[in-house]
Amino acid sequence: MSAGDTTMTPVLEQQEVAAAAPQRILREGLIFEHSKAGRRGYQLPALDVPEQALDQLLPKPLRRAAIEDELEVSEVGVIRHFTRLSKLNMSIDAGLYPLGSCTMKHNPRINEEIARTPGFALSHPLQPAHQIQGSLELMWHLEQTLKEIFGMPRVTLQPVAGAHGELTGILMVRKAQIKAGNPRTYILIPDSAHGTHPASAAFAGYEIKELKSNSRGTVDLNALAEAVTEDVAALMVTVPNTLGVFESEIKKFAEILHAKGAFLYCDGANLNAFVGIARPGDMGIDVMHSNLHKTFSTPHGGGGPGAGPVGVSERLVPFLPSPTVERAADGTFYLQYDHPDSIGRMRAFHGNFGVLVRALTYIRSMGPEGLRRIAEIAVLNANYIRARLKSSYYLPYDAATLHEVVFSDKMQSAQDVHTLDIAKRLMDYGFHPPTIYFPLIVAGALMIEPTESEPKEELDAFCDAMIAIAQEVKERPELVRTAPHTTPVRRLDEARAARNPILRWKK
Ligand SMILES: *Cc1c(COP(=O)(O)O)cnc(C)c1O
Repeated sequence: MSAGDTTMTPVLEQQEVAAAAPQRILREGLIFEHSKAGRRGYQLPALDVPEQALDQLLPKPLRRAAIEDELEVSEVGVIRHFTRLSKLNMSIDAGLYPLGSCTMKHNPRINEEIARTPGFALSHPLQPAHQIQGSLELMWHLEQTLKEIFGMPRVTLQPVAGAHGELTGILMVRKAQIKAGNPRTYILIPDSAHGTHPASAAFAGYEIKELKSNSRGTVDLNALAEAVTEDVAALMVTVPNTLGVFESEIKKFAEILHAKGAFLYCDGANLNAFVGIARPGDMGIDVMHSNLHKTFSTPHGGGGPGAGPVGVSERLVPFLPSPTVERAADGTFYLQYDHPDSIGRMRAFHGNFGVLVRALTYIRSMGPEGLRRIAEIAVLNANYIRARLKSSYYLPYDAATLHEVVFSDKMQSAQDVHTLDIAKRLMDYGFHPPTIYFPLIVAGALMIEPTESEPKEELDAFCDAMIAIAQEVKERPELVRTAPHTTPVRRLDEARAARNPILRWKK
């Protein structure tokens, strides 16, 4: 379907009809509002404790005479309510979810099945090592596998998010610098970095110096050479960076930094762009986190759970979080606490173990060839979108794209239609909007990451929608400016929703 194709008209009419139709879900309200005296959705077994014993088991003052605000709904009422609510969510299970940087890809169901294996799901972190050999073995194998993928001698599995991995990595850098005589003052961060980097570096006690990108959107070697002094502890680079562009001079970054006793930190959250093709350790990178919940597939909308393992070069091994999982000569697995230079624990117990199970399952089910295919197809899909949309949307950096592509609203803003409007209009076409207004170095950014799990038909449907919206901006800009039209609620006050959430229902 091309931009001017008239087959788009029925879609529009359909949307207008849908917009006018009464929205059943809006009448639905909250589950509490369905409460009707006497409705029941459960059956409790008969009391099998003598009534007199109750006073002993649960003293009177701890019991409530009646439940306030009791919710009385039938089973069918509960099921329909939550099923209708679930349909309001855009989800990866319903279609393309192109949030740039977040890697919202299909999560294979085999991961869930293995994570629910009772031996994994029901084990307790306080069990002695001899009772949890299988879980320790899984962590040991995952570390071996990530060591191979990263090209690094050791990896810690403790951090529970990408940003937590950053903090872990920078704390190791700090400890290493202290050992070398001086923690130093600055962490260098390019202006194209992920937004979590300045926060992580500041948490670890550093001041931040920003590095301006060059016209390709990558780190400028001359600017870097000038900025690296004996006061700099490390450079944090994002690979690929937030424009989806590969930093091709990484080995030179490492040389410049190492010559001054500084470290090279790499944000490998989006390893799906080059997993199985290149290894960060081979590029001279000293420390890198990767997001298992992104590249190695765990559902991660809504803030978690995640895992952000950190790989380190030989120089940083002594500072890894403790305990580590080791294999004894007799083949048994144990936790090693004896690391005198460790930065200590970064998390209670062993991190988000369920995510570790999913990641190893995913890696094993893909195999080495499959992992390489992930990167190849992620890159192919992003470049396909780039090629199809580049005459309809402005491309601020025209460098070859890896796993994501960043457009801007420059071609639309003359009609007073902006990134937010385009994102809202996409919802009318049944797509989750991309990441918007990020990275900050692109005004009005639209950051699109299709991921490798999308078939060509879905990519085409998305591009058709984006092209149709670009056409609408020319012909009926008001339609886009006032979108969405088909969703049960229109534009929300997102700041208020985040700052003042209503978490408890009161009559
Ligand atoms: C997602 C992401 C992070 C942060 O990861 P969290 O798990 O959300 O803390 C850091 N850097 C990049 C490049 C990312 O895409």
